[in-house]
Amino acid sequence: MPRQGYLIRPENIPERAACPVVDLHNHFSGNWENLDDVVRIMDDVGVACYCDLTANTKVTWEEGGYVVRQGSFDGFMANCARRFPGRFIGFTTAGFAVPPHEPLFNDASEFADLSIEILRRHVSQGAMGLKILKDLGLVWRDSQGSLVNADDTRLSPIWDEAARLDVPVLIHQADPVGFFDPPTPDNEQYKILREYPAWSFADRARYPRHDELLARLENLISRHRRTTFLVAHGANCPEDLARLARMLDDNSNIFVDFSARLDELGRQPYSAREFMIRYADRIYFGTDMPSSRELYRFHFRFFETFDEWFAPPRPDGSFRDPRWLIHGIGLPPEVLDQLYLRNAERILNKCLT
Ligand SMILES: [Zn+2]
Repeated sequence: MPRQGYLIRPENIPERAACPVVDLHNHFSGNWENLDDVVRIMDDVGVACYCDLTANTKVTWEEGGYVVRQGSFDGFMANCARRFPGRFIGFTTAGFAVPPHEPLFNDASEFADLSIEILRRHVSQGAMGLKILKDLGLVWRDSQGSLVNADDTRLSPIWDEAARLDVPVLIHQADPVGFFDPPTPDNEQYKILREYPAWSFADRARYPRHDELLARLENLISRHRRTTFLVAHGANCPEDLARLARMLDDNSNIFVDFSARLDELGRQPYSAREFMIRYADRIYFGTDMPSSRELYRFHFRFFETFDEWFAPPRPDGSFRDPRWLIHGIGLPPEVLDQLYLRNAERILNKCLT
């Protein structure tokens, strides 16, 4: 791809979103130093409310990957939610705040009981949902060394409790399909995998396949119809929107976000637009990247305009050296209203503006 093309085209970058926005997929993970800056960014671009999905954790970057440990939900409520009323909400990972190299549990039923206890406590303190990291099904093992799958029935009481408490479960399963193939130059994820080698799951002896992870996810959501699941990153199959459409058709208890996947949607703009309109009541907005004016405005440009041939962000929120360029999908105002705000309010059963 040429670094500098000669195409002349208009740039219509919105200063602010067309209507108030809820960023329902993001993370502070205990890093609350720059909150004043985040609030100024939100004010400037029209983000009414930001959800920290890992509000009870402390996340660090170690050896090329994220390591999640139990943090303080109280701290989140004191430093974020109460300091800026109405601007920040939080989910909890309950007992699932476990570093990837440690066993998720020794005793499964004790773990389920503990997770339920933490979930209840955090919900009573203001948590709006339960967040499950991609480590479930991919890396977490029990004390015997067996992988713990998303559809492991030993975890069922936790999903049932979320339904009883009337809070959604936001779950990340698998990752882009290219992460499961060898990280070679012909892999379209090569640039990303070269930068983040720990994100490669090509090792078949160690990691289940992408298809198996999605099958287990579908098992989980179809077995727990009373639980609402928010399936992050377009269920990690935005490369195959027909498959995602079937998942939505078959499971009325799920919603999806396309956080960190607009590059996937933006390279198939006609299909993506049709999809977003057809499932307008099932898709919520999220970015899952460090907040900046540029990042939010990029999202609004993609959803609101028909701008062509512009760069999507990398996972760190920067716009350098994109894998490919994308096209805006110019969604109608009523679809934007659902995507940006109404679906989040419906999912959380709460007025967020
Ligand atoms: Zn995330």
